[in-house]
Formats: sequence, C-alpha cells, structure tokens
Amino acid sequence: MRLRVLGCSGTYPTCSTPSSGYVIEDPSATIWMDCGTGTFPAMQRVAGYDTVDALVLSHVHSDHCLDIYPLYYARRFDPGCERLPVYCPAGTEEHLSRFLVGDGACKLGFIFDFREVTEDDVVEIGDVRLEFMLTDHPVPTFAIRAQSPGGTLTYSADTGPGADLASFAHGCDLFVCEASYQSGDLGPPLHLSTHQAADFAKRAEVRDLVLTHFWPTHDRMRSVEEAAEVVGDLPVSAAYAGGVFDITSRLWV
Ligand SMILES: [Zn+2]
Repeated sequence: MRLRVLGCSGTYPTCSTPSSGYVIEDPSATIWMDCGTGTFPAMQRVAGYDTVDALVLSHVHSDHCLDIYPLYYARRFDPGCERLPVYCPAGTEEHLSRFLVGDGACKLGFIFDFREVTEDDVVEIGDVRLEFMLTDHPVPTFAIRAQSPGGTLTYSADTGPGADLASFAHGCDLFVCEASYQSGDLGPPLHLSTHQAADFAKRAEVRDLVLTHFWPTHDRMRSVEEAAEVVGDLPVSAAYAGGVFDITSRLWV
C-alpha cells in the first residue's frame, strides 16, 4: 500500500502545493482521501478523475473538499463515469449541495453516492478496511485508519489536541498527522503543533510519522526538526505535493 500526497498545505493552497488531498494506492483499490483546493488538477497529473474507486471526505472545511466541484463537472460530462461512492460525515451532501445552482440536473447526488459514516462503521473497499474516529475540530471531522494486507496507515485529518489519536493510530505503520503550528507560533486549539503531533506518534508507537497540513508560510524542515526533538528514534518526515510514501519500503518513492 502507498500513500500519494496530492497536497498538504493547510487552510489555503500555495503556488506549488494544493490543500489537503491524498490517494491510498492499494493493489485492490484506489481511494481518494480529501479533495482540497488544487487537488483536482494534481490528481489529473498522476492518474485521472475516473480511476478512483471511492472518495473519502474527512470534513467539510473547504481546504479538504472544495475540489469536489470540478470533480463533479468532469464526471457529469463523462458518460463513462458511474456514481462515485463518497464516504463522509453526516450532512455533507446537504452542505456541499448549497453551492451548486442551475438547472434541475445540477445535483451532486446524481454524480456522487454519499454514504454517511459514523465511528461504529467499518467500510471495505477492495482489500482496504476503513475505520473512523471523530476528532477535536469545530465541525464533525473523522480521522481515518486504513488497513490492507499491504499495511496500516492512519490519517489524523484536522484536529485539536483533544482527540485520542494515540489509541486510534496505535501500532500503525504510517501515521500521517497534521502539524499546523510550530513552536512560538501557536494558534487556537483546533489544530496540532509539531510537538503535539510528535507526542501522539510516540504514544501510538507508530512505525513512521509523516507531518502534514502545514501552515502555507512555514518552513517544513523546521517542523520536522521540532517533531524530531520529541519522537526520539521514530522516523519523521514532511509530506510534499507529488510525494508517494511506500509503506512496505518505508521510503518516499
Ligand atoms: Zn478543518
């Protein structure tokens, strides 16, 4: 199993880095996880909007879901595309549909099959098993744990320090954890600092930590250095747009 990073810029995209978006690439399934601003063109560069088996949305903040609209139009006018399953928090379809206006055919539900999930659900797509945990964020937000014969990864999505990520991510091979803040530049507690992300990784005893959701103006290498102060021997690296982390080899490829 591999994790492809389409974008990892928190809150808004930069010239070189879209907002949050990832692809879980397993031999049995391709799963697009969050489609923040700029991830639709990024996806077209590496694969195509018609190559995914499902879309998973962690929450409805725009930097995690806004490119569902170009995806909608691309699939609407492509007769080869069937309705795409979208796994998401309750209310996502209603919330996102408000932006679409026009003729009667203009409905997200015609193109996407929204499937609301809860913390009790397990979703299986190919050989990939998905589990969900609500995080500490102002809107309903799910951290996502994906397990396949090729390994296990946990994605924190957006969260403050109040979510039990140490339990949810426990023992996974790859922990992709948001680290929006750096030391000396802390914001409101709806996101994590580098030290908090690293502390969760250490307590979860994960094999590899990848930091993500960087504030756009931050130096990511400094974020990695700060996390390394906490995690000890645990390998930590920074997500980057276009990067692919192979869980088996434990390398960016
Ligand atoms: Zn958010």
